[in-house]
Amino acid sequence: MALPDKHNRNHNYLRISLTEKCNLRCAYCMPAEGIPLLPSAKLMQADEVFAIAKTFVSLGVDKIRLTGGEPLVRKDFDVILRNLASLPVELAISTNGILVDKHVALFKETGLQKINLSIDSLQAEKFAQITRRNDFEKVMRNLDLLLENNFNIKLNVVLMRGFNDDEIIDFINFTKTRKVAVRFIEFMPFGGNDWKADKMLSLEEILGMAKNAFGEKLIALKNHENDTAKNFKISGYAGSWGVISTVTSPFCAGCNRLRLTADGKMKNCLFSNQEMDLLSALREKKPIENLVKIAVWDKHAIRAGMDTPEKFADKNLNQDNRSMIAIGG
Ligand code: SAM
Repeated sequence: MALPDKHNRNHNYLRISLTEKCNLRCAYCMPAEGIPLLPSAKLMQADEVFAIAKTFVSLGVDKIRLTGGEPLVRKDFDVILRNLASLPVELAISTNGILVDKHVALFKETGLQKINLSIDSLQAEKFAQITRRNDFEKVMRNLDLLLENNFNIKLNVVLMRGFNDDEIIDFINFTKTRKVAVRFIEFMPFGGNDWKADKMLSLEEILGMAKNAFGEKLIALKNHENDTAKNFKISGYAGSWGVISTVTSPFCAGCNRLRLTADGKMKNCLFSNQEMDLLSALREKKPIENLVKIAVWDKHAIRAGMDTPEKFADKNLNQDNRSMIAIGG
C-alpha cells in the first residue's frame, strides 16, 4: 500500500511545483500585485527535486505531475525531467502551453505523454483579458502540435460567471473533431484571489446547460476511483469533457494526491495550510521518509477540514493558504 492516511486512502500521486514564476498573469490564480518571489537558493535545485521524488517513489508513488507556476519556464527543466524519467513512474505535466513547441522532443524522449493544457477562452481577446498576455495564437498552435504528435491532452478551463460561461458549449463542441478531454474547473478560493461563491459555475449548472444543448446525445462516462472530474461525452464526438467540482461536490474520498511546493514544502491537500518542510530536512542531511509518512497520515477527510459549504466559503479559512501560483496547481 502506498502512503496510507488515517481515512484509509493511499497516496501514489505526487504533484511537484518547479517554480513560482509564470509567463502569464491569470487573475484568478495570483493576486493583482503579484507575489513576492523567493530567492532561488530557497527553491529546490534539480538534484533536490530528484532526491525528494526518489524518496516518494520508494514509499509507493508511481505517478508524478510537474506543475508551477509555469514548469516550462525553469531553465533546468530538461535536467529535472530526464532525472525523473529514470524512476519507475508515469510522468505528466500541467502547462499553459506557451513553451511547449520547444519541449516536444524532450517529452517524447522521456516518455511524458500526459499533458494538461490550461486555456480559459477560445477567443483571443478574452484570453488576453484573463491572462494579461497576448499568447492565444501561440497556445492554439502548440495545442495543434501536441495533437498532431498524439499526446494525451486535457484542457483545463476555469469558468467564471460573466466572463467565459458563454463559451461552455463552444468548448464542448471543440471536442467534436479533436481527441481532447475538456475539464471545466469550478473556480476555487485561494490566498488573494478575490473568490466569491456567485462568480463560480457549479457542476449542476454546467450539466444543465449541456443537457439543454445536447439532449439525448449527452452521455455520462464511467468514473474511476481517483478521478477528479465527473466525465461526459457527446455521442459521435472524438473527445470528451468533464467538470472538476471541488467546491460543490468534492471528491476527497478517492483522493490519492500529495503536493510539493517549489520551496520543498509538502502539502497533503491543495487546501491545507499545514506544510512539512522536506527541503530543509534534506539540506540538514536528515532522513525525510518519516516526515512524509506523518504528513500523509494527518490528512483531513475533506478539503483540509473545510468540510461544509459554509466553512469553504469562510474567508478566514479559505484565505489562510498560499495563492494558487505558489502552491502549484
Ligand atoms: N502554469 C501551469 C498551467 O497553466 O496549467 C500550471 C500551474 S496552474 C496554477 C494549474 C491549474 O490551476 C491551471 O489549470 C489553472 O487554471 C488552475 N487554477 C489556478 N487558480 C485556480 C482557481 N482559483 N480555481 C480553479 N483552478 C485554478
